[in-house]
Amino acid sequence: MTVDSLLTRAHALDSADPLVEHRKRFIGHNDPGLPAYLDGNSLGRPLQSTLERYNSFITTQWGGRLIRGWDDGWLQLPLTLGDRIGEVALGAAKGQCIVADSTTVLLYKLARAAVAARPGRTEIVVDRDNFPTDRYIMEGIADECGLRLRWVQPSPDGGMTSEDVRDVVGPDTAFVVLSHVAYRSGYLSDMESITACVHDAGALVLWDLSHSVGSVPVHLDDCGVDYAVGCSYKYLNGGPGAPAWAYVAERHQAELNQPIQGWLGSADPFGMVQGYEPALGIRRMLSGTPPIMGMLAIEDMVDLIGTVGMDEVRKKSVALTEFALESVEVLLAPHDVRVASPTDAARRGSHITIDHPSFKEVTAQLWEKGIIPDYRNPDGIRLGMSPLSTSFGETLHGVMAIEAILAAG
Ligand SMILES: *Cc1c(COP(=O)(O)O)cnc(C)c1O
Repeated sequence: MTVDSLLTRAHALDSADPLVEHRKRFIGHNDPGLPAYLDGNSLGRPLQSTLERYNSFITTQWGGRLIRGWDDGWLQLPLTLGDRIGEVALGAAKGQCIVADSTTVLLYKLARAAVAARPGRTEIVVDRDNFPTDRYIMEGIADECGLRLRWVQPSPDGGMTSEDVRDVVGPDTAFVVLSHVAYRSGYLSDMESITACVHDAGALVLWDLSHSVGSVPVHLDDCGVDYAVGCSYKYLNGGPGAPAWAYVAERHQAELNQPIQGWLGSADPFGMVQGYEPALGIRRMLSGTPPIMGMLAIEDMVDLIGTVGMDEVRKKSVALTEFALESVEVLLAPHDVRVASPTDAARRGSHITIDHPSFKEVTAQLWEKGIIPDYRNPDGIRLGMSPLSTSFGETLHGVMAIEAILAAG
């Protein structure tokens, strides 16, 4: 295959793409100064409708309703938006998801709740390739609670399998914390079989879905997951620093004991009473005042994903990563670029990572040209394909630009 035939294929794939019209809904999709945005897995583009929503929120709701806005729906928004994310993207029935804080803070709250729910158990299982914040939070909790970390080293181009998990869980395991899609390799773990392995050992599982939510269909209820958490500024396009979301299976809520006991997670916030009593249900995951402004953009993207459906989103995502791998094989393999992601689409999220010793410098040159993937140590370029905003032509453009820099030496 040649460059010309790849260009023809990219054009044909874009023309036949049933979701192609949605790309036009994103601000900047046709910016000539930004020919390829391949980092929607780090920060999704804004929707045009979000601009309008902010405008109307500021003039009508904040500006018009002022403090009355809390009674008009803002106080419910962490729960109503949580329910929407759960329904559209997580396979979670109502009353189990909440929007709040950041992924890091929610990880801490859920992990401490998991420790409290398994008294007497002394180990937390975590993998070396997990996202830094997940590892660091668990190190802190192990120190704080006098627990041991049980580290697993998965294959660097792959990720955690149910065999890896079965080998390390046992009667001492309190809980296992894993990323569903690995942030570097893009490996997609088998949530159902891993969750079952963890439960066989009497332990709990906490899934980090930061790279899955909005790109990979998830079935939290059907898989029997205990706790989950994820980002909203990646494939949910919530904007920089948008609040995260958490899931707690209904069966755990009555006993849920989270460590940041704030007034808005209490049973009677406006009673201003002495002594903390947790609210019933998922609301007890809240601590302080919810970041309403940060939730507006998430609402738009969740609506769009709801219209399209996660199965369609996944189909496009798979087609994009397949095409990216094909382009890499044709254009970059001759330059000794190595694919560090699963070749089996069923085991892959919506990004791929490719390795070459020059990629740190190559990434800097790409950014100058408005071609934006990201760099991950050591030697990796991540090409993130955001299913609703990335085109096949854009993906090929990025790979061709890498080839041109490598060819120029
Ligand atoms: C992006 C990401 C995070 C980010 O956490 P923040 O608290 O938003 O900084 C956490 N975990 C994983 C797996 C991620 O990919």
